[in-house]
Amino acid sequence: MKKSFLAVILAILMTVVFIGCTKPKNEEGSRPIVIQGAMDVETENMVKQLKNVEEITYGGWKFWKGTIDEFPVVVAKTEIGMTNAAASTLLAIEKFNPRAIINQGTSGGHDPALHRCDIVIGKKAVNFGSFRSEHSDYGQGIHSENWIPMDINVNVNGEMKEVKEFEGDAQLIKAAKSVANVYNKGKVVEGVIGSADQWNRELDRIKWINEKYGTSVEEMETASAAQIAKTYNVPFLGIRILSNSEVHNEDYDRNSGEYCQQFVVEVTKTLIKEYSK
Ligand code: SAH
Repeated sequence: MKKSFLAVILAILMTVVFIGCTKPKNEEGSRPIVIQGAMDVETENMVKQLKNVEEITYGGWKFWKGTIDEFPVVVAKTEIGMTNAAASTLLAIEKFNPRAIINQGTSGGHDPALHRCDIVIGKKAVNFGSFRSEHSDYGQGIHSENWIPMDINVNVNGEMKEVKEFEGDAQLIKAAKSVANVYNKGKVVEGVIGSADQWNRELDRIKWINEKYGTSVEEMETASAAQIAKTYNVPFLGIRILSNSEVHNEDYDRNSGEYCQQFVVEVTKTLIKEYSK
């Protein structure tokens, strides 16, 4: 009687230990890749790629949870602008515990070497809307070219740090570069994604931002999402297509949002292969 009782206890213990040992692997496997876009034209095609899709709303932000190649993927519609992007990223991290985040979508060209439909893989993302100015008196005017870039305060591993820019994750950059050759609507380059709640069309200003920050493109979300991802140590990458370039007088291309999504789906599939090894 006593012996068999002990045997049962032992069997239960061994099962618990066995499940305990295998659990981390299962958990890691169930952590999704989150792919973000601000608008319908920047998310719809990716949502269509999802199998077993479930639409979830938290506050004002929508998420589509599903799978690509049997791997969990969440498409997030961040809505437009820095604050929306931060809120959506925070929700994505807290609710879905992602293994990686890719922020993608349209942008305006800053680098004269780039044209509409070229794609920039974000080696870095920078918030170019953060400034301070020196004192000047009433009547002295506004001289934005003299404004001094101000670092961003970010909690990194529990410590507040002043950060100039956010680096793209090396493994994600590698995955993105590895599928560059399948993209045939323009070129794919590594570069700097500049973010602010701004749409700049003054060429002198665009040139100033490009020279000051090395921006390849401007848009309104990436650096903000990157900041939140950094706080949580979640691997992050921005990927942006030029939908327009004031530099070359190239107007908004309506298909560019779709092209970028198609490229990012290829990046995601490559990443899934890596994660499934
Ligand atoms: N065509 C839209 C524009 C949306 S606002 C409309 O008129 O309603 C801008 C959105 O597009 C943001 O999400 C931003 O990330 C992106 N974007 C594309 N080109 C941009 C540019 N030149 N400057 C700033 N944001 C740009």
